[in-house]
Amino acid sequence: MSRLDSFIRRLTAQRDILNSIRDLVKETEGPVLEFGLGNGRTYDHLREHFPTRRIIAFDREVHSYSASTPPANDMVTGDIRESGQAFIGIGAALAHADIGTGHDEIDAITLTWLPQLVAGVLTSGGVAVSGLPLDWPELEPLPLPDGVKEGRYFVYRRK
Ligand code: SAM
Repeated sequence: MSRLDSFIRRLTAQRDILNSIRDLVKETEGPVLEFGLGNGRTYDHLREHFPTRRIIAFDREVHSYSASTPPANDMVTGDIRESGQAFIGIGAALAHADIGTGHDEIDAITLTWLPQLVAGVLTSGGVAVSGLPLDWPELEPLPLPDGVKEGRYFVYRRK
């Protein structure tokens, strides 16, 4: 599979999973956290899905498309490993983390802190969607929507 095919499949999985958990998240109170704002594409998608929710986005710095940039009080800059700590206990209904790099050695370091952070920001019943696997006792894997291959993108519910 070419890198282009692989990229398209990853983004398709990302979109299909975000669509599949919309109703589940709507049943749960709490803000939405977007770890890795990037260009703001998934932020924009989440904004369409959850127009009345507070959506807090995180990134090292803001480099999103201007129409997909959160208001300043919902944008947290800096390394998520540190900046995310202040949000533990916020009771989020959804945490989406798209901060994988495709470089195993970098992602291995991210995986030393990301699962615990994601579990910590979610309320009970809250949903985690991630490009990296979140192996953590409180995070129960949910079935993937049809057409999404195991291991391409990940979805969990916090116990
Ligand atoms: N989902 C986004 C979109 O649809 O536009 C794309 C996210 S992009 C793949 C990943 C982003 O995560 C990058 O902007 C990068 O700066 C940010 N990122 C990765 N690791 C981070 C970390 N430890 N702290 C802060 N930001 C991080």
